[in-house]
Amino acid sequence: MLVRMVYNSVRNMTKARNFAFLIVVALLVFAILSLLSNTSSAASDDVNKEYSIVPENDTMALCFESLQDTRKLLYSSTDNDNDIEPEPIIYFVTPTYPRREQVAEITRLGQTLMHIPYLHWIVADDTSVCNNFLNNLLKKFGIPYTHIASPMPEFYRTKKLVPRGVANRRAALAWIRNNNKKTGVLYFGDDDNTFDLKLFSEIRSTKKVSMFPVGLIGDYAISTPVVKHGKVDGFFDSWPAKRKWPVDMAGFAVNLEYMGLSPNVTMPYKAGYEEDEFLKSIGLKMQDIEPKANNCTEILVWHTQTKNNKPPKIRISNGILRNNQFNLGVLLKKLETMGVSHISQSEGTAAQITKDGKSKSLISWFS
Ligand code: UDP
Ligand code: MN
Repeated sequence: MLVRMVYNSVRNMTKARNFAFLIVVALLVFAILSLLSNTSSAASDDVNKEYSIVPENDTMALCFESLQDTRKLLYSSTDNDNDIEPEPIIYFVTPTYPRREQVAEITRLGQTLMHIPYLHWIVADDTSVCNNFLNNLLKKFGIPYTHIASPMPEFYRTKKLVPRGVANRRAALAWIRNNNKKTGVLYFGDDDNTFDLKLFSEIRSTKKVSMFPVGLIGDYAISTPVVKHGKVDGFFDSWPAKRKWPVDMAGFAVNLEYMGLSPNVTMPYKAGYEEDEFLKSIGLKMQDIEPKANNCTEILVWHTQTKNNKPPKIRISNGILRNNQFNLGVLLKKLETMGVSHISQSEGTAAQITKDGKSKSLISWFS
């Protein structure tokens, strides 16, 4: 009796185990099959699926909508112009140099400066010949400007630490001196930085030297004066390097009357120490510094940097380039002029045209 009971229960257990085993195997096979079919069809499904415009599973929250146009000039050149003191001119000095991003950078910066009245833009290009293309671009902004060609001496280009933009800033300083600009405010604004429009109203009232934070600098992601009881009392910059004035080029503005008091104003070709040496040359003292940007608690300028890629080479025949029946020749030659990309007869990525989802060589597209 006991033996039979034990035998039965063992048999049942074996049955149950077999059954469970079968289920596990079936599940596994199913899982593998569905995985395989998913991966193989997922790709084609993704491409072929017609996506509805209204998101199904996407997360989307409408945060805010404003249907009113509240744009206005930050400074309207007011109707009662006669009653008010003329605004000091801001001399905005931009060193720039030929590279494929130059036109894009100058376009963005020019369109920022278009918002600012009483501004004279000094664009000093690191080249020996005046770039006509750049000049036509500058003209279009409608801003009063001076376009200078001021190449860096070859000697400095080969150095391990290249003094970037120094020849250009020196040329701008020479222009200011030679043209007897004795009032107004000087600011060094690189072509790749990002400027809040509020920066301009802040620096315009500079009496001697104003200072303010610059975002995206070094290991602190900021370079700023330290302000105590409304006065600059030190500096917060992750690369002090024994500099008396450890500030970024974009972190200060200088009144020209104040600068005129120093006879030996200069910016030496000393990579990393340009700001420090310039501020020393204008005889800056701690008590001369006016903190701006709400006692240096606001970031009104950012040291953004544009990713720099090599210009690609496009292989395209001369005949097609010269064909003025269609746009590509004109467009690609323009990009060549800007230094954005190059054209070659024999090397580079072959030019192709895509139509109805199929790519064809230019020759066959024409025939
Ligand atoms: N610049 C120049 N010649 C050069 C390299 C740079 O005139 O050979 C200019 C550049 O257009 C910019 C400034 O100098 O306005 C600072 O250079 P960059 O932005 O490359 O240096 P960063 O300060 O961002 O390291
Ligand atoms: Mn830069």
